[in-house]
Parts: sequence; C-alpha cells; structure tokens
Amino acid sequence: MMIDAHCHLSLSAFDVDLEEVKARARCAGIMHMIDAGTTADRFKRQCTLAADASISICHGLHPWFLDVHRIDTDAGHNDLDCLERMLGSGQAVAVGECGLDRRMGRLDEQWSLLNAQLRLAKTHDLPVVLHCVGMNDELSKRLREMDLPRRGLIHAFSGSWQQARRLLDLGYLLGVGGAMTHPGAHRLHRVVAALPDDGFVLETDSPDMQPAGITGRNEPSHIVQTCRKAAELRHVSADTLSRYTADNTTRLFRL
Ligand SMILES: [Zn+2]
Repeated sequence: MMIDAHCHLSLSAFDVDLEEVKARARCAGIMHMIDAGTTADRFKRQCTLAADASISICHGLHPWFLDVHRIDTDAGHNDLDCLERMLGSGQAVAVGECGLDRRMGRLDEQWSLLNAQLRLAKTHDLPVVLHCVGMNDELSKRLREMDLPRRGLIHAFSGSWQQARRLLDLGYLLGVGGAMTHPGAHRLHRVVAALPDDGFVLETDSPDMQPAGITGRNEPSHIVQTCRKAAELRHVSADTLSRYTADNTTRLFRL
C-alpha cells in the first residue's frame, strides 16, 4: 500500500477523467493521495476532491503563478486572505505548495509570497509543502529562522547530499519522485540510497515529472516505478519501502 504524498489532481488536466485516474491508482495499490494547491481559483475544486476519503488537500500559492495570484491589488481581493480563510476552515492538512524557483526570476516577489505562507503555517500549526529549485541553501536558512512547529516536506528534492542532510537535520522530510527513475540521475540516486528510512516520502507531482518511460500526463498510479527504483537503490523490497514511506507521510500530515 502506497501514498502519493504530492500530486495535483485538482488541476484541469484531470477534470475529464478523474474517476478513471483514481481507479487506476487504487488498482496500483495507492491508498491515499495528497493534492497540493497551486492557485486560489482551484481551492474550491480541491475541497470537492477532499470529499473522497482517499484524498487530502493542502492549500497554497505556487511560485510559478506569480502572474495569476492576486496580491496587493486595489480590487479589494487578496489571494493570501483567501488562503487564510481556507486554512481556517480546517480542511487542509498543510500549507502549500509554496516556495522558490531560481529559474523563474522575480525572486523578491517569490520570497514575499513564501514568507507570508510560512507565517500562515506557523499561525495555523500546519506543516508546509515546499517547492525548491536552485535555492536549497537559502531555503534551509529561512526554515531554521522560522522554526515552524510542524516542519514539512521539500517536495521533489533535487539538491546535493549536504543540502539533504541540512534539511533532514531541521526535521523536514524530502519528497522522492519520478526524476529519480531516470538513468542519468546519478546524484539523486546517491541521495536516495543514503536517506534515513524516516526521512522521505514517495510522490508523483502528477501531472508533471513523468518517471522514465512515461510520456504525456503523469498520474498517481505511476508511483509504482518510483517505489521500485527507490527500493532497488536502497536494497529493500518495494513492500518494505512503500510501508515506511507511507508511515512517514501519515505522520507528517496527521492523516
Ligand atoms: Zn507540485
């Protein structure tokens, strides 16, 4: 039994055939999925998804969508206020996806959006689900300063072992996904082989981050490849690995 600790079933890519996607996930042995937020206009869709007991949700404002988020507008609407209201309703198991992506530029705006969400995680006593590309050192420093009570998940971790170690020492879990199944991902293979059993979770980031050999849309059932590859790198059975990573996810999000 596996848990997909990070996916985006609430995106429009799954609007048409969500029931089939969920059925394939069940057949693949996935007992639970965590849907991460991206933009405020999908928060309601996420709440609809959460009516299914096999789906939990996180609400957040993703750094890729700076042009979509309505922040500091004169129109009297602020997506951060909307996020705070959604978190207040108690349905979300975490704040996120939020974070930093060096490739996207506009880092000042990204930091300000992230800092606001880290404060919300603290106020609402929730873990945080973080996207971090090329900013692991800066993010670690900020997380140390924030000392969030429930810590969180660095989803799709892609840094070095030293960066992994620092985040683990701060009490954060790392998300291991499809990127690790690609034959050339040598640094990531070494990191995954060395992680402690209680330091990581499995995820797909569907519809993105296809595992090796999958073209087109990614979906939760594809987590099987990631589980097999991680088990091979760590010299354990896929059953054992899926059990302890599911325990890690359950503990983090209090499922
Ligand atoms: Zn994501």
